[in-house]
Amino acid sequence: MVVRFAPSPTGPLHIGGVRTALYNYLLARKHKGRFILRIEDTDQTRYVSGAEEYIIEALTWCGITFDEGPHVGGPHAPYRQSERKAIYAEYAHELVRRGWAYYAFDTEEELEAMRQKVKAAGMEAFQYDAVTRMYMKNSLTLPPQEVEERLRSQPYVIRFLMPRGREVRFYDEIRGWVSFHTRELDDKVLLKSDGMPTYHLANVVDDHLMGVTHVIRGEEWLPSTPLHVLLYEAFGWEMPKFAHLPLLLRPDGGGKLSKRDGDQLGFPVFPLRWKDPHTGEESSGYRERGFLPEGVVNYLALLGWHPAEDRELFTMEELIEAFSLERVSKAGARFDYEKAKWINQQHLRRAPIERLLPRVEQLWRERGLPPVSQLVLARLIELARERASLLPELIEAVRFFYERPALPLKEPLAEKLHGGVIALLPEIEALFQGISSWEAPLLEAKLKEWVKARGLPMGKVLLTLRLILTGEEAGPSLYAIMELLGAREVSQRIQRFQEVYGVPRGV
Ligand code: GLU
Repeated sequence: MVVRFAPSPTGPLHIGGVRTALYNYLLARKHKGRFILRIEDTDQTRYVSGAEEYIIEALTWCGITFDEGPHVGGPHAPYRQSERKAIYAEYAHELVRRGWAYYAFDTEEELEAMRQKVKAAGMEAFQYDAVTRMYMKNSLTLPPQEVEERLRSQPYVIRFLMPRGREVRFYDEIRGWVSFHTRELDDKVLLKSDGMPTYHLANVVDDHLMGVTHVIRGEEWLPSTPLHVLLYEAFGWEMPKFAHLPLLLRPDGGGKLSKRDGDQLGFPVFPLRWKDPHTGEESSGYRERGFLPEGVVNYLALLGWHPAEDRELFTMEELIEAFSLERVSKAGARFDYEKAKWINQQHLRRAPIERLLPRVEQLWRERGLPPVSQLVLARLIELARERASLLPELIEAVRFFYERPALPLKEPLAEKLHGGVIALLPEIEALFQGISSWEAPLLEAKLKEWVKARGLPMGKVLLTLRLILTGEEAGPSLYAIMELLGAREVSQRIQRFQEVYGVPRGV
């Protein structure tokens, strides 16, 4: 099996593009095939600098790797279509010789005039096709000598000669049999006047030359497929299998999730942050939001594919094992950001600490928080990860560590303080001071013993102490919090509380 991902570098890679790349990757790895990255940059007017680098960086971040591509080389190099220009022109002329294409000389003004004329006559929008081609300036209507003459002296394009009255049928691995009538199709330009191929020609020629066996791409390319099928026929080449992936829909189901949706829906539609080189406009990315790549990959895999077993959490390896095109659905998949976060949370809980440490360290620094050792940070992550879906939330969840509570406490927290416990704070302080080794289990044992001896309600004692030490009513285990704060800080926070609340200091 040979599959490819063939993005056009016209901007940042949309999250739907990442899913297309992912499905291709999963199949290539599952079937021990090859995965090619091909940059389809023949439309120079839409080229955006930095887009190719972005695509590679985004996919690398996701753990999607290629066997061939502009960044890794390979036997079919070059992998940028702009560097393969000469190849396509040859094939386009070949099609003219075979009677499947023709030269057209109409200028932009002439085409526009024709469009206006057709519009004025109240007819359907003009398209260059089996009927209208006979009224245009091309090698089918002009005498051979004039054609020769024009080929030498003026710009021309090569158009596909769409056959009349044919039903083009092909099998789609996801949709089953699909058919189009050539009446609905126009004579697409294959080679432009600047000698560059259009998408259709370059795409088919390269898929053939690169030995692609499965074309797996977004549903928006389905209408192009009949032309591609005819191109394979015209060249006499064996056709690859086709699979068109369902659209990604907006959360309300109201249409396609597009690049333009940007941050308007409240969540990123790009894998990484992107700054538009022309407008300077910034769009947020999943990486910067604090997603783990394994979370994004797992979520995207489920957008349009259903595993055989009732299960939602997968690592990349498990996806490779479980994935198949048979279980990809035809219906569009609605994007669900809350679900994406939930899946990320599950991966955050499972990730090895060493993977999280560098990212959290970076966030810690960016927030300007006082330096801590890796050991302490690792323990903080352990404490926080039960309560976080995204990386920055890990830091939020251990706010107690770097921020003393704001005193006096505000309502409704203040009224949760237990007066009896507050009166006994000097005793608690003394109890803590007598502790031989400042560790959570010992702290727990001692405190419990004391609470029991004093006949106090355990829940109220813990809540009051939690409020005094963290200013919050919920959070990680209080004993773990105390251990991490250390004996001195705990004692200082208790003293500070007593000062603010006017409780007499202990011994
Ligand atoms: N260059 C096309 C794109 O931008 C490729 C479509 C295909 O995979 O054939 O998506």
